[in-house]
Amino acid sequence: MTPPPTIRKTAFIACGSNIDPRPNLGRALVQLGAAVERLRTSPTYLTRPWGVAAQAPFLNLVVAVRTAAAPHALLDRLQEIEHALGRTRTVRHGPRTIDLDVLLYGDLVIADERLTIPHPGLIERDFMLVPLLDIAPGLTHPADGRPLAARRHRLRYRQIVARVAP
Ligand code: ATP
Ligand code: MG
Ligand code: MG
Repeated sequence: MTPPPTIRKTAFIACGSNIDPRPNLGRALVQLGAAVERLRTSPTYLTRPWGVAAQAPFLNLVVAVRTAAAPHALLDRLQEIEHALGRTRTVRHGPRTIDLDVLLYGDLVIADERLTIPHPGLIERDFMLVPLLDIAPGLTHPADGRPLAARRHRLRYRQIVARVAP
């Protein structure tokens, strides 16, 4: 008997760090690559901290991945990587070695106690939307079917200072 085909979905992961950000983003990309298939990686952006202003600047990027893991299992993998990279949660939105957030998972819309997809920040925070559009300019919002690119000029939070790596 042939085994059932594995259904793999494309997801987009937002990565951010403001504690040793370059090495930690590098480590996170390596660990992500071991957990899921990495498709594309956006440029890296230097950003002003969001949420808690009095902390070091961030580096942010977005990665496109392909995975057979269901959304909650993917979140488990991401949290394992955060843990492995020394992520602690003392101050909400405070300094972190790495933050890995699921921006999109296929065309799913999820809102439960552990997971909100699309990530609510996606249409508000430039450091999520801009790198996402860099690697996937034609994406639409799964809830309303409209192009995400149209949201680019209506962002509430503009934290990007510069693009620092291709
Ligand atoms: P924000 O989500 O506003 O960017 P944060 O990333 O700093 O804040 P975390 O401390 O990393 O917040 O995560 C808090 C909780 O958010 C996690 O335990 C997780 O269950 C939940 N969560 C909900 N939706 C998502 C998502 N799309 N991606 C990652 N975590 C999510
Ligand atoms: Mg976050
Ligand atoms: Mg997070």
